[in-house]
Amino acid sequence: MTGTIQTPVLLVGAGPGDPDLLTIRAVRALEGAQVILHDRLVSAAVLALAPQAELIETGKAPGLKGWTQAAINAEIIAQARAGQRVVRLKSGDPLVFGRADEEMDALDAARIPYEVVSGITAAVAAAASCKASLTRRGRNAALRFMTGQDAKGFAEQDWRALARDPAAAIYMGVAAARFVQGRLMLHGAAADTPAAVVENASRPQERRIATTLGRLAQDMAAARIDGPAVILMGVAPRAAAEVVPALAAPLPARAAI
Ligand code: SAH
Repeated sequence: MTGTIQTPVLLVGAGPGDPDLLTIRAVRALEGAQVILHDRLVSAAVLALAPQAELIETGKAPGLKGWTQAAINAEIIAQARAGQRVVRLKSGDPLVFGRADEEMDALDAARIPYEVVSGITAAVAAAASCKASLTRRGRNAALRFMTGQDAKGFAEQDWRALARDPAAAIYMGVAAARFVQGRLMLHGAAADTPAAVVENASRPQERRIATTLGRLAQDMAAARIDGPAVILMGVAPRAAAEVVPALAAPLPARAAI
């Protein structure tokens, strides 16, 4: 691919993992990068597209240096000021649960130009895997993007409204499952509300679980979900693309489709 993007800093969405799901613009950004600061969830297959770049992992996996947001901001700015073409690479889309504002604020304050390159967010990739439409006439005209892991957690959710129309893509779903299930059922959502859980969407080890609100936490525990997972609540997979039932052992990639 030709043409280097000249903006000093690019906030790039790496998508859910499969490099085929990168945008062409993201690939160009990766190919032109001199330094890439990436999150732990960015797949090795995506990073392999930038063998020329210095890679800095900003994740907090056990044994690795835990980066504070302030340290990440400072590193991006220092690298850009040193004349490097910097890519800040985040899983999915950088503007969905990506803490991009803190980095954009720091770049604005430092008067360093930057651009945002969109990526395919996990909910959308998960829906494609399940062939589950995220909106459907007569079922849900709106969909929430939720997480329990941001600064304010779930405190702000209007559970009563969500229980009436429980269509949501729930990020950081492993930690959230039991809490969301309890709150929605407390506020009257039906136990048989369909839900799908997609772990490692688009990656070779992807698993999909068809369940219901009433069985959500139990089925997730039984499946021992330990990779990144999104819960699609209230949006059933198509019957023709039935997802796997909850199983303890990992299944072959995309076995059910
Ligand atoms: N910016 C990202 C979200 C980062 S928050 C995006 O737009 O997708 C991290 C959460 O994203 C994980 O806890 C999980 O819920 C979800 N996630 C990221 N990659 C995923 C994948 N390949 N499969 C399923 N969920 C994923």
